Amino acid sequence: ITLSLRITPFGERKRQRLVVARDVTKIYHLDMIRRDFVANASHELRTPLTVISGFLENLADSPATPHGHRRPLQLMRNQTERMRSIIEDLLTLSRLEMDDQSRAVEPVDVPDELHLILNEAQALSGGGHTFEESIDQDLLLMGNQLELRSAFSNLIFNAIKHTPTGSRVRIGWRQDQGEPLFSVEDDGEGIAAEHIPRLSERFYRVDTARSRASGGTGLGLAIVNHVLNRHGARLIIASEEGSGSSFSCRFPAESALPRARLVAPAAAGFS
Ligand code: ADP
Repeated sequence: ITLSLRITPFGERKRQRLVVARDVTKIYHLDMIRRDFVANASHELRTPLTVISGFLENLADSPATPHGHRRPLQLMRNQTERMRSIIEDLLTLSRLEMDDQSRAVEPVDVPDELHLILNEAQALSGGGHTFEESIDQDLLLMGNQLELRSAFSNLIFNAIKHTPTGSRVRIGWRQDQGEPLFSVEDDGEGIAAEHIPRLSERFYRVDTARSRASGGTGLGLAIVNHVLNRHGARLIIASEEGSGSSFSCRFPAESALPRARLVAPAAAGFS
């Protein structure tokens, strides 16, 4: 059985302890069934979707396809591409939920990762945004590289997807009061206060039609939230309608790794 324990100080001057144990076996199993279902369903949908998308591509490119069929075929291809993104994001979320203790935790060269993501971001923006960087080149982080890349790129790509052309995007990576802090700020349209607490729920979007049009799945911030939880970090969202948004990830101080500490043992090994 699985128990949930709660220990509360009580009584005179709170010197006694009240222990309440609740049998959560059923809830735990139901949650496991839900997680497995989402993972299996996504996995099962992957193959048929690959086949459909392959044939659509052949048909769209074939000279035998009547001209009038080209546009519907193109729309069908766009929609299969959207379904593929949703399935990939659902699978990423399932993997993150599995609480895999054996996942690699290693020194992650965050400045290097950000450099790669920024190249992709520039391609995604197509010159429509101005980027400013303030990146501490000597600050690395203990964590999982793929998960962190996914979280940082989601936040940076959001600042492009959800802001109008001509917006400015500022990316920061530094130590703030001893804690590693990653931040993405934009001067886009911002987000109304009532949406902010719900943004990292699955499929929650401020403007569903616009998010879909920009290729969004509505799962990006849910992925970011999971990754940060696994790193003991917090997502802080600040935004005001009309004056842009800021998304920051604050990591625990002990996960910071100065670059000098990483290269020192290897250098010592050579001498
Ligand atoms: P999506 O796939 O739609 O980007 P996310 O989970 O990443 O899904 O984000 C959820 C919603 O949060 C988005 O649909 C958008 O409405 C809002 N959002 C996220 N980032 C920004 C931003 N930088 N500026 C304005 N709105 C944003």
